[in-house]
Amino acid sequence: MHQLYANVIVPRPLDSTFTYRVPPEMASTLGPGYRVIVPFGSRRFVTGIVDSVTATPPDNLDSLKDIDSVLDSGPMVTGLQLRLWHWLAAYYMCPIGDVMKAAMPGGMKVESETVVRLAEDPQPEAFDTLDEFGAAIVEALSKKEKMSLVDLAKLLKAPSIERRITAMVERGIVSVSESLVNRYRRVKVYQVKPLLPRGDAEALTAAFAAVKRSEGQQAALLNLIALSHHNQVTKPLKAVSRETLLESDPRITWEHVKALVKKGFAAIEVREISRFSAGDDTGDDCPAALPALSEAQSAALDGIHKSFINRNVTLLHGVTSSGKTELYIHLIDYTLKQNKQVLMLVPEIALTTQLTRRLQRVFGSKVRIYHSKFSDNERIDRWRDMLAGEPCVVIGARSAVFLPYTSLGLVIVDEEHDPSYKQADPAPRYNGRDAAIVLASLHGAKTLLGSATPSIETYYKATEREKYGLVNLKERYGEAVLPTIEVVDMAKAHKQRRCDGSLALDTVSEGRDVLAAGRQMIFFHNRRGYSPRARCRMCQYTPKCEHCDVSLTYHRRTNTLECHYCGAVYPVPKLCPACKEPSIEIEGFGTERIEDNLGSAFGKARILRMDLDTTRNKEAYASIIDDFSAGKADILVGTQMVTKGLDFRNVGLVGIVNADSLIHFPDFRANERAFNLMEQVAGRAGRSSETPGKVLIQTYSPESKVIDFVSRHDYDGFYRQELAERREFAYPPFVRIIDIYIKHRDRGTVDSFARTYAARLTQLLGRRVHGPIEPPIERIASQYIRKIMLKIEEGASVFKVKDVLRSLFLEFNDLPVKSGVTVYYDVDPM
Ligand code: ADP
Ligand code: ZN
Repeated sequence: MHQLYANVIVPRPLDSTFTYRVPPEMASTLGPGYRVIVPFGSRRFVTGIVDSVTATPPDNLDSLKDIDSVLDSGPMVTGLQLRLWHWLAAYYMCPIGDVMKAAMPGGMKVESETVVRLAEDPQPEAFDTLDEFGAAIVEALSKKEKMSLVDLAKLLKAPSIERRITAMVERGIVSVSESLVNRYRRVKVYQVKPLLPRGDAEALTAAFAAVKRSEGQQAALLNLIALSHHNQVTKPLKAVSRETLLESDPRITWEHVKALVKKGFAAIEVREISRFSAGDDTGDDCPAALPALSEAQSAALDGIHKSFINRNVTLLHGVTSSGKTELYIHLIDYTLKQNKQVLMLVPEIALTTQLTRRLQRVFGSKVRIYHSKFSDNERIDRWRDMLAGEPCVVIGARSAVFLPYTSLGLVIVDEEHDPSYKQADPAPRYNGRDAAIVLASLHGAKTLLGSATPSIETYYKATEREKYGLVNLKERYGEAVLPTIEVVDMAKAHKQRRCDGSLALDTVSEGRDVLAAGRQMIFFHNRRGYSPRARCRMCQYTPKCEHCDVSLTYHRRTNTLECHYCGAVYPVPKLCPACKEPSIEIEGFGTERIEDNLGSAFGKARILRMDLDTTRNKEAYASIIDDFSAGKADILVGTQMVTKGLDFRNVGLVGIVNADSLIHFPDFRANERAFNLMEQVAGRAGRSSETPGKVLIQTYSPESKVIDFVSRHDYDGFYRQELAERREFAYPPFVRIIDIYIKHRDRGTVDSFARTYAARLTQLLGRRVHGPIEPPIERIASQYIRKIMLKIEEGASVFKVKDVLRSLFLEFNDLPVKSGVTVYYDVDPM
């Protein structure tokens, strides 16, 4: 047989795959998608994924290493997944290794760790000169025998101990070795099976005689036999789960069961199962009927089916509360009945407990949830479950595109306009919506994009370009109507002294009426914390983060200043660091402060706050949403989170506290984002039929065009105006943008590198190059940042531009100025 070679992807930020020799004993089975252990760099064992196997010898034949071992009996990554990985790497210009890192649960990428233990027979005098640190290491190892480098560092609270360990190895005190660490464990379930011949009375009597001295064993045997009987007498005795048996009688312990096993009356069977087959995250399996659709909804559903005949992607443009979710349910049902899988992407899975419950009611255990808050073991179980290839509907955040689908029939992207589909950091900086469209096309599946406020790009493709199909659903379900919108002029309110903190008195009096009528209110503000910043009254000094170029946010609960970029926490200075006066003041307002204002304005009202600070644990969202739904609170105040798809029946008023902070934002998408957020949050009002809801928009710019469009719920008008501006200033969808980021700890270095780089780029790409610019936040986590923007006109080849970028990168790689500079790309930035 010919010598074979495998090209392997390793989870490192490296562009290419690496070639290894395939040992003969693996040659007959190994193929693409297998997990293999390979030596890589300084590590003896790294998990790689076989990308391809070939008989053609590579150039570097002499330096080739062997694959160490194969981890599984079959491929863990499907061929279509590998194609998606390659697409992501090429399109988003990032290393294939980074894609693998993001795509697979951490625990599937087992690696070796350095393990430290005490040397076999050390020279006694080696210990004489140990410092405190060395002594601590020796003590830890004498207790534990061996420890990984990582665990040792953790124990000693030292960031890096490698050099000390190396020194101790040289002095013969400790030794190190590498061993593979696999932390993934399946869940074990124990079942007990009786081994008594059926209907053999004699054997039974003998068995009971053998246990008659132990009450527990007796009970165990009796209940085991009783519980293991099938309804049908002809069937053999079945196994009973450990829990069922133990719970059947308080006298029975596991020891009693083991005694039965020893005496030969029973056997214990251990099975390893997925964490999800126990059914803990799934609903029961008595599915509710599909909702009957209204006339408008039926027409829309027909429209979608028709559109799918000649369009792979279709946009469902349905106003808030029109019943988009009900349509999704019908489409999912249709797809499952064809034995196909469905992926439903949602912007932030934690926010969608209402949605998942709605789906579980209809699809029961076919609903599979996937998101980044899952533990690694859970994510691996999910992955393995998916490889089994049953029809199911996965609901997940963007990372759900990485699961191993086997027969995808439909992808739904709910709230397709949502910016959180885009991963900003780290690489791959991909848009989950766009990746999902590619995933669907690899499977020959259809994609439905849904939104009340489609992104400008998507709407452009669905109308002007006719690349996507378009289906409209313009009315709310049932008797509900869209809420009326009023603008509250804050400048006027201030002048007339008709304000109470962040609220205009007009807002307060409307609010009182709503509460008096027994209805609820939602207040939206896009800043968390008590106040955006502290400032010195005397010299105007504003405290900033030491590592980032941003002002700090005041948090009242902890009485601290926090950096919302790197998370650093600072005490509030008593004296102004600049002028030494005791004149630091808190100014402006965030959600925490608004909660205070609402408290004083609406006396007895019960208030819930939902923002990053109140939802740090996994269940917090669900409990806030449930409490508000159940009427346990009158007011919900929060950030973006309160805008996302929530369906409450009794909201009479929505207040947007400060629309200006949405509108005045230095970004070409600011208008779009402001329109979407306001329209979405407005959409939470008046979702049931009784009385229409109302929205109050507080603003210092009442003449703003965006607010005007929102107040008339005029998406089309907004779209046309926005599109005209994008055309005039050359922004997407008329160009594609690639941002090139350049980072370094030293300002001078980053500046000169960026200028040289931009100049060279301009020689190659001409007027498509803009910058370098200093971004509004010039430094994050101690790294100075410069940005070069490329605008690539519609019709030009993006892949050609990317080739240019790649070769330029290689050219610069060899220059001395490059040292220590990081360059990366953000394609289609959000
Ligand atoms: P959207 O996703 O477009 O905002 P939803 O699907 O959440 O709208 O529907 C809004 C509300 O109307 C929900 O409470 C939903 O249960 C209800 N609803 C919509 N369509 C139907 C229907 N066909 N039958 C019963 N209730 C419906
Ligand atoms: Zn910071």
